[in-house]
Amino acid sequence: MVSTQNHTPSTGKYTQPTGLFINNEFVNSVDGKTFETINPATEEVICSVSEATEKDVDIAVAAARKAYETVWRKVTPEDRGKMLVNLANLIEKNADTLAAVESLDNGKAIGMAKADVGMVAGCLRYYGGWADKIEGKVIDTNPDTFTYTRQEPIGVCGQIIPWNFPLLMWAWKIGPAIATGNVVVIKTAEQTPLSGLVAASLIKEAGFPPGVINIISGFGKVAGAALSSHMDVDKIAFTGSTVVGRMIMKAAAGSNLKKVTLELGGKSPNIVFNDADIENAISWVNFGIFFNHGQCCCAGSRVYVQSGIYDKFVERFKARALANKVGDPFAADTFQGPQVSQLQFDRIMGYISEGKKEGATVVTGGERHGDKGYFIQPTIFSNVTEDMKIMQEEVFGPVCSISKFETEEEVIATGNNSTYGLAAAVHTTNLNTALRVANNIRAGTVWVNCYNMLHHQIPFGGFKESGIGRELGEAALSNYTQCKSVSIRLGDAIF
Ligand code: ADP
Repeated sequence: MVSTQNHTPSTGKYTQPTGLFINNEFVNSVDGKTFETINPATEEVICSVSEATEKDVDIAVAAARKAYETVWRKVTPEDRGKMLVNLANLIEKNADTLAAVESLDNGKAIGMAKADVGMVAGCLRYYGGWADKIEGKVIDTNPDTFTYTRQEPIGVCGQIIPWNFPLLMWAWKIGPAIATGNVVVIKTAEQTPLSGLVAASLIKEAGFPPGVINIISGFGKVAGAALSSHMDVDKIAFTGSTVVGRMIMKAAAGSNLKKVTLELGGKSPNIVFNDADIENAISWVNFGIFFNHGQCCCAGSRVYVQSGIYDKFVERFKARALANKVGDPFAADTFQGPQVSQLQFDRIMGYISEGKKEGATVVTGGERHGDKGYFIQPTIFSNVTEDMKIMQEEVFGPVCSISKFETEEEVIATGNNSTYGLAAAVHTTNLNTALRVANNIRAGTVWVNCYNMLHHQIPFGGFKESGIGRELGEAALSNYTQCKSVSIRLGDAIF
């Protein structure tokens, strides 16, 4: 069985591929192993998919290697670009199904899932445009030598993605890797394998030769570990927790020193000054933490509000959070669906009870929502001090911690008081304040008077323990190329 008939509440029946996508075909795993994927809104099993073990990883890597060494190298950059654009077009053609499958498997609100699918197409098309613009340089050292550089692909890339944006992370990984001439083996997250498999069914039609893009479902400790320690994988790109990021780096170092890029966790400060447009700031703070149910690596989970507006801000933010509709991901007006899994639900509830124990004030939320599905009330803690766990650790749920500050200097120091450095935001109507804070915060992205404004043209990635390398934009291309210098002697021998 490499497919099954599934049903989504918004689009009805569809064919769900369940096999491993290797060499442009869906196949069963070697051992015939499968695992179940759960609908987080109902806690019911949706279906089972094939589970890749080390043997399947070997097969997928071998398929990718063969494609790389034979057909893929002969494909022109222009044609690579066309294939990515074809894939973007096919994604758009199948947008309703893809969005519905994403909501079903991940729990995200259908409106958000549709937005994700739009961004998937945008990202693939953008990198399709880059494929024939990867250029080297001529370097003039002396009249008797001609030197040029080539930006060559790295080769077989292992890519391990998380469950919070299953399809979007799929596109962020495929786009730059394929544009620059690499081949890939992607392992999706075990919590959310379905949308990546539906999208995989479009790869052949987009024109990609067999083995260029391989998609496998499986667990981190088995398939993920096999990919990151594989001797024939030339590069590993990972998005997920900092804990696992360290393991990936160790596995790379302990095997063949494959190149590593990591996009990891965060505990991003969202800073609101007295002179901010308070209603706008509240909207962005609300979106910054509660978008995607708080399951964003860049979530604005540490909110620092200046003392002059602190009380007013907390009161109005509470009202705003209470207006976020929590519930059925398929209802058009839902803003927040369930957390992705029982494990995540338990972790988040653990942080909430820790916050209560440590003495922070629950402004709103702090409990489960309903009695079925992994729903959690939007939760705001105020009077949170720097030493509390909820101010230090990544909760990865709809929980934010608010603290009061007096001066710009102080908030820059507390904003930077984190081992992470993924994102930050500042809300103020003073341009000088905005730029000073933006320049002094140690984070890969700073938003001014907005939040979560991610775009495929803009580089994204972490300072400090939030990661290595940049995704998106032109910056991502360098993660997937290696520079070769070729020097040609034009004159007589000098030695
Ligand atoms: P979370 O804790 O939020 O689920 P993880 O960082 O554990 O996030 O998971 C992100 C991705 O990393 C998933 O695809 C998961 O299967 C994978 N993963 C987990 N553990 C490992 C590991 N030891 N080696 C490689 N990949 C892993």
